[in-house]
Amino acid sequence: MRIQSVMESLRAEVCEANRSLPRLGLVVMHSGNVSGYSPQDGKLVIKPSGIDYEQLTPDMLVEVDVASGEYDSQMRPSVDLPHHLYLYRNMPELRGIVHTHSNYATAFAACEQSIPVALTAVADEFGDQIPCAPYVSNEGDEIGKSILANKTSAPAVLLGRHGVFAWGSSASSALKSAAMVEDVAKTLILAKQVGEIAELRQDQIALWNDRYQNRYGQRKAA
Ligand SMILES: [Zn+2]
Repeated sequence: MRIQSVMESLRAEVCEANRSLPRLGLVVMHSGNVSGYSPQDGKLVIKPSGIDYEQLTPDMLVEVDVASGEYDSQMRPSVDLPHHLYLYRNMPELRGIVHTHSNYATAFAACEQSIPVALTAVADEFGDQIPCAPYVSNEGDEIGKSILANKTSAPAVLLGRHGVFAWGSSASSALKSAAMVEDVAKTLILAKQVGEIAELRQDQIALWNDRYQNRYGQRKAA
């Protein structure tokens, strides 16, 4: 069996993460996008602009040089490419980025409200509030700069009046962050119908986050 190159396996993972967006109810039609980054190649791969998710295959993803922003492809990359480039250039630990307008999270963004740590699930997954950055235009580096200026330790930011950017150590982990942002936003919007919501205390947040991040799930093989 032929061994896949790093870029081939990145294409496969990023394609699968993109195709998961509609399956998870995080996007409709062509909105949203996922990218993944290979630092050893200095390249990212990103969804092409305006393509149906069901038709997306790994070879259709656009490969872009992160330092120069140049690409050599028949397909045009997502219009959100400049924001992905800005984040990879300025947060070198990132390996995957997801952008969506998922409904419940974007409802918080529409009101320019952060998602508070009012649930143990937020403490577990994010360890901090998911902040909402004020509205900015999509010109140049404005979105990237706003994400950097407003982020907490959580791997996601809401963009005021716009949507969600989430990231992680891979395209799959960025997808998980984006899905969890939507899940906790949905629960908190339902909770607001029932009564008032309030943040957990800092010591409670730290306890839940430590257990989830360090002791949840199975040990990795040594
Ligand atoms: Zn958008």
